[in-house]
Amino acid sequence: MSDETAGGVETPGPEQRGGRFLSRLRRGLFMTHTEILEKLGTAVKKGLGFDETLLDSLEETLIEADVGAETSAALREALRARGGSSAGADLDELRGILLEEIERLLASAPRATGGPPPSLEVVFLVGVNGSGKTTTTAKLAARALSAGRSVVLAAADTFRAGAIEQLEIWARRLGAPMIRHTEGSDPSAVLHDALSAARARGAQLLLVDTAGRLHTKKNLMEELSKMRRIAGREVPGAPHQCLLVLDATTGGNGLAQARRFVEAAGATGVVLTKLDGSARGGIVLAIYRELKLPVVYVGVGEGVEDLIPFEPSQYARALLGEEALAES
Ligand code: GDP
Repeated sequence: MSDETAGGVETPGPEQRGGRFLSRLRRGLFMTHTEILEKLGTAVKKGLGFDETLLDSLEETLIEADVGAETSAALREALRARGGSSAGADLDELRGILLEEIERLLASAPRATGGPPPSLEVVFLVGVNGSGKTTTTAKLAARALSAGRSVVLAAADTFRAGAIEQLEIWARRLGAPMIRHTEGSDPSAVLHDALSAARARGAQLLLVDTAGRLHTKKNLMEELSKMRRIAGREVPGAPHQCLLVLDATTGGNGLAQARRFVEAAGATGVVLTKLDGSARGGIVLAIYRELKLPVVYVGVGEGVEDLIPFEPSQYARALLGEEALAES
């Protein structure tokens, strides 16, 4: 963990970090498939249309970039359907077609509606152990606090060794109250107390760090459902968000595990962590298409400030190396 009190000129701000993330993504993906896009462009220019070998290569590259088999095949089909009629198209046009298809995909997942904010917003963080739930809870708390909101944290991951203490360290640093019980205790009881504490304090946001795995016979998904019911009983509409925390470096495996949380825990959006450790940000497309969930934030480091709101159109352009093309 980085010490978030360590300021100084060398600590880059969130925008610089966001820029670094995008340029890394640009390099990582653009480098790999620029050649294929060029070949496709040449084929179309010569009036050859998109031949199967080229489409195969594009699909393979997308799969390598973690876009996922299903999503890569869908993009390939979209390109084939549109490429056939655009003889004479150049690389820019091709990239434009792919960009449109990607933007369409990114616009397809429902975004949180901008209704009136609840007086107490309850947000659950769910996902497997090690995905970054506790760290993301702290990052979200830091963002909310710096926006002037009052925050309470609930240490409801009572099963992973050290999770409570880890969150407690962040809570102390951030100056946010945290509700905890002892390790191994009932997560629903922690939630119950945290809801009472948040209401008693008139807090605006309650962030609930949940377990990724239980060490009892109880089923995790059943436990999460029970927690949802408790929250809904005490605060209308709660949990208002259920954020699925997903480690970008786990690729397709992570996606398979994630599906369970979507089906059983009612996830409403994704926080994609550790994108700083992976240039293969293509998984974002698979999340939209295969989980039908929007990516809300991306994590780009271990520090409390390393969380960036996800911008679909910026991402789509970075993915296709828009700037790199403009420079060439
Ligand atoms: P949890 O088990 O889901 O609560 O996961 P943790 O919050 O403990 O995170 C697991 C590890 O991933 C920790 O070492 C975190 O510092 C690290 N981590 C979390 N988010 C990020 C991220 O965006 N980038 C990097 N590089 N590391 C992260």
